[in-house]
Amino acid sequence: MRATPAPAVTHRPDERFDEFLLAAAATLPDQPAVVEYADGAQRVTTFRRLREAAERYAAELDRFGLRIGDRVMVVSDTSAESVALVLACSSRGLPFVPVSPETPAERRETIERLAEPALCLSADGAPGAAVGHGRFGGGRIEVPRPPVRRKRLRRAVTPTDTAYIIFTSGTTGRPKGVVMSHRSVVAFYRGMLAEEFVSVGDRVASTSPLQFDFSLLDIGMALGGGAAVAPVPRALLRWPTRFLKVLRVTRATHVNGVPSIWRQSLRHIPGELADLPDLRGVLFCGEEFPLGELRHLQRLRPGIRLINCYGATESMAASFAEVPDPLPDDVTHLSIGAGHQGTDILLLDAEGAPVGREGVVGEMYLRSPALMTGYWGDAEATDAVLVTDPLEPRSGQRVLRTGDLAYRDAAGTLRFCGRRDSQVQIRGNRVEPAEVQRRLLAHPDVGEAAVVVYEGPDGDAELSAFVVLSDDAAGTAESDLRAFCLRSMPAYMAPGVVRIVDSLPVNQHGKTDHRRLRDRLLTDAA
Ligand code: ADP
Repeated sequence: MRATPAPAVTHRPDERFDEFLLAAAATLPDQPAVVEYADGAQRVTTFRRLREAAERYAAELDRFGLRIGDRVMVVSDTSAESVALVLACSSRGLPFVPVSPETPAERRETIERLAEPALCLSADGAPGAAVGHGRFGGGRIEVPRPPVRRKRLRRAVTPTDTAYIIFTSGTTGRPKGVVMSHRSVVAFYRGMLAEEFVSVGDRVASTSPLQFDFSLLDIGMALGGGAAVAPVPRALLRWPTRFLKVLRVTRATHVNGVPSIWRQSLRHIPGELADLPDLRGVLFCGEEFPLGELRHLQRLRPGIRLINCYGATESMAASFAEVPDPLPDDVTHLSIGAGHQGTDILLLDAEGAPVGREGVVGEMYLRSPALMTGYWGDAEATDAVLVTDPLEPRSGQRVLRTGDLAYRDAAGTLRFCGRRDSQVQIRGNRVEPAEVQRRLLAHPDVGEAAVVVYEGPDGDAELSAFVVLSDDAAGTAESDLRAFCLRSMPAYMAPGVVRIVDSLPVNQHGKTDHRRLRDRLLTDAA
C-alpha cells in the first residue's frame, strides 16, 4: 500500500517570524516540531503542542503590559520551551535577544546594558533579584519584580517590526546588536525553503547555541518545511560518542553546525559515524570546512548531501552550495555558489566596480531582502556596512558590504577566500592569512591549521601559524612546515613561526578562536 503523501505546509505572504514557523501547525498538527534528547530517550513536541505552548507564553507576556519593540532577553539553549517563548515574543512584537547560558557573566551584563530589555528570562536557575529578571518553563513566566507597566499602544505588529536582536562577537570585541525584522528573516527563510533541503518528517539536528543565528537557520529550515528541529545538548557536543548517540536517538536525518562539530568523531570514532542509520544531509556554515576532514566525511558517508552555507548574522545565510561528491582532488577552495533565491551577491573591486574576470578577487556585497535593519544603537557602524548600491547609486537602495573576499571560478560560482579586515601588510606586501593557512593544510601531515597576525617586537605585523598534525603524521617538524610554505610562496608570506599544538581552541560558536591564539603569542612573548 502506498503511503498517502502528507499535506504540504502552506505559507502566506507577509508572515511574521512566528507565523512562518508555526504554519505547519495548521496542516500537520501531529507531526514532530521539536525532538529533544533527554536521559537517553527522545521527547517529541508536535506542532500542535508547540503552538499551544507559544500561546500560553504569549498570554503570560500580556500580563506585563509591554509595548511593541520592548526587548525580551532569553537566556537559554534551544529547547521546545525556548522556541515556544521566542515564538510568543514574536507574536506580540517583542524582539527577543537570545543569550546562551554559557556566556560569561561580564559579556551577558554588557549585552543587557546595551539591549535594555524589559524582561530577562532564564530557562533555569534562580529568577534573579533585579527588576524584570525571571524564569520561564512549563508555559509559565515568573518575574518576582516585574517592570513598571506601560500604557499599551494599540497597533498591529508589522513585517518591518523587529523580530530579534543578536549580539555578535564582532571583530573589535565590542558586541554589536544585529537587528532583524520579521520581513528580513522570513525573506531569508523563503529563500532557504526554495532549496528543498528537508521534507515533512525529517529531523534537523541543531548544534549551535541559540544566540548564534545559525540556530535560527536550523529552526527555520526544520519548522518552515514541516520537519522537526532536534537540539543537541551543548554539554554533549564535545564528546563524540555522546554526540553521535544524540543523533541516533533523535533519528537525525540532517545535521547543521560549524565544521568543528565533526572533528572528534572523524578522528576517534569514524566507524560509528559511518554507521549512523538516518543521516542524509550535513549543512555547515561559519568558516571553511578543512578539506581533509571534508573528504574523510565523504568517504565515510558516500552519497551524503553536504551543503556549504555562506553568510553572516547581518544577512543570515546568503548562499548555499552543494559540495560535489567526491570532492575533486584539485579543489583548494570550496564553492559558496551564488546567492540564494532573492539574493544577489555582487563582487566588486576596491573602487566599487564589478569584477568580471575569472580568478580575480573582489569583495562581496549583498543585494537582498533579508538584510538586517541595522546595528542596535550604532548608526555609524550601520552606515559603514549598509551602503548605497555602488552599481545603482541613484536608486538609494542599500546593500550589505560583507567584508568578505571571493573570486569567480570557471563556472561563474564564487569561491570564498578570506576577510578584507584580516588582510595585512607584511613588510609592505599584502597578505591574506587564509591563503597561508590553505598552504599549510595542503601538507600531507597537517590536520588543522590557523594563521594569526600579531604585532611583533618592532611593532610590525607578523604571521604565526598553529598546526595540529594528523594522526598518521610522520615526524614532521615545525621547520619542515615553514620550509614547505617557502617552497610555494614569497618569504614575506611564510609564517615567521610555526607551532605544532595538540588542538586549536574554538570560541563559543565552535569557530577557530583566533583571538585566543593571538593572546597566547603575546603571553609567550612577554
Ligand atoms: P562572527 O563574525 O562573530 O563570527 P558571523 O557568524 O556573522 O559572526 O560570521 C560571519 C563570517 O563568517 C562571514 O562574514 C565569513 O567571513 C565567515 N563565514 C561564514 N560562512 C562561511 C563559509 N561557508 N565559508 C567560509 N567562511 C564563512
